[in-house]
Amino acid sequence: MIETIEVVIIGAGPAGLAAAREARALGLQVIVLDEQHTPGGQIYRGVRCSPAARQALLGTDYQAGAALVSKFLASGVDYVPGASVWLITAERRVHYLVAGNARVVQAQRVIFCCGAYERPMPIPGWTLPGVMTAGAGQVLLKSAGQVPASKVLLAGSGPLLYLLAWQYLQAGIKITALVDTSSRRDLRSGLRHLPAALPGWRQLAKGIGYIRAIQRAGIPWYRSATKLCVEGTTSAKALTFEAKGRTHRIDSELILLHQGIVPNTQPTLALGAKHRWDESQLCWIARQDTWGELSVPGCFIAGDAAGIDGAQAAYLQGQVVAIGVACSLQRLSVPDAERRAAPLRNALRRYRCLRPLLETLYRPQDEFRRPANATVVCRCEEVTAGDIRGYAALGCIGPNQTKAFGRCGMGPCQGRMCGLAVTELLADAHGMSPADVGYYRIRPPLKPITLAELATEH
Ligand SMILES: Cc1cc2nc3c(=O)[nH]c(=O)nc-3n(C[C@H](O)[C@H](O)[C@H](O)COP(=O)(O)OP(=O)(O)OC[C@H]3O[C@@H](n4cnc5c(N)ncnc54)[C@H](O)[C@@H]3O)c2cc1C
Repeated sequence: MIETIEVVIIGAGPAGLAAAREARALGLQVIVLDEQHTPGGQIYRGVRCSPAARQALLGTDYQAGAALVSKFLASGVDYVPGASVWLITAERRVHYLVAGNARVVQAQRVIFCCGAYERPMPIPGWTLPGVMTAGAGQVLLKSAGQVPASKVLLAGSGPLLYLLAWQYLQAGIKITALVDTSSRRDLRSGLRHLPAALPGWRQLAKGIGYIRAIQRAGIPWYRSATKLCVEGTTSAKALTFEAKGRTHRIDSELILLHQGIVPNTQPTLALGAKHRWDESQLCWIARQDTWGELSVPGCFIAGDAAGIDGAQAAYLQGQVVAIGVACSLQRLSVPDAERRAAPLRNALRRYRCLRPLLETLYRPQDEFRRPANATVVCRCEEVTAGDIRGYAALGCIGPNQTKAFGRCGMGPCQGRMCGLAVTELLADAHGMSPADVGYYRIRPPLKPITLAELATEH
């Protein structure tokens, strides 16, 4: 007999923490599943076990997570850490794996709060040992207090890159250089969004503070960099690039790349929910109504998984969606739900007003989304951009066919690393829009599960 729960929330980041608390406050029975071993998601990763000194160098935004996590744990929510959700059916059966045991629960409502992951940055040499993402560098710092033993080079674009540079400076790490790929053209176009972004001035001021600190530290900062290439045969040795018409080569055995984050759509794609291509965020976003309900009835979405808006917005959105869920379960009337959600929606607008500015300033450049032929795009199966263009020339029209042509997207990452690049490469080759080209058909299991584990399911 499968247990039925009113609300199953997947993810204990800001969106999941908020949705769970709000749903509990509205009298709903809630279970929260998260594959991490402590609550907090990406931004507040490990915040409850982080020593004071580490919290101090990670900054006040990180520290604020401790209070949110404590309130969540005190709210009466059934929280299951270390729970990897590998299948969610359209009938809202949620299958997960915890400590080697497979479990299944029947949900009346599911809220997907599965967050985001970093947009891969395929450049020549990005698969060499010694090259990581900036997010991975930050995960090591947050979860284990680990920092680079030697100098580190940061390359790419986006607020997380500046934040990590600032956090490394607090930790006394030597940064060889910041190779910034955001362009002057995007800076000029971004300025027109500045007036509309002013209600979010607090967040802007924080970002400017990080940039000033990096400048004060005297870190060499190469702007509008293009043609990035990691040199090395068995591991990274140097980064070469062009900036201001000159070719540069900087020795480094540790290079952290970053070009923004994108919603984690794997769970909602596997569910069969409808998605749309977003030309501003350059990624897929699940279609949702004003309460976050997906095209699959009874399934809702909140936080960065529903489109990148940042942690504060994720928290507010989690609350709004929980109100919508309570309304759909007849625990609140529609007017009461609207009344309760109105101030949260107003506050959400203040955070969202920053997005057009940020998305223009830090738009990933074409050459790092549709790389040159020799660059590997599918790391798992070692398929290059040239291979994808070759398949297109042979008549391959969509990402699912690239699997048949060359196993692209069929490795352990399930296309997370190559999916967006493959869509954009095919769209470019055929002169079509990414929306028309589509994406991989994502199939369970979302997370690896052995047959022996599957046999334990109950
Ligand atoms: C690597 C990285 C680092 C970041 N660092 C910062 C930062 O320092 N500061 C900042 O302002 N923003 C940061 N961001 C952006 C930040 O993630 C968000 O703005 C914010 O955390 C979004 O909250 P969320 O609740 O939507 O998602 P998240 O905080 O990402 O939480 C999603 C949760 O879902 C869980 N999950 C996902 N899939 C499954 C599954 N199948 N089974 C079980 N659990 C699952 C994850 O374990 C995670 O805990 C970072 C993003 C990334 C990708």
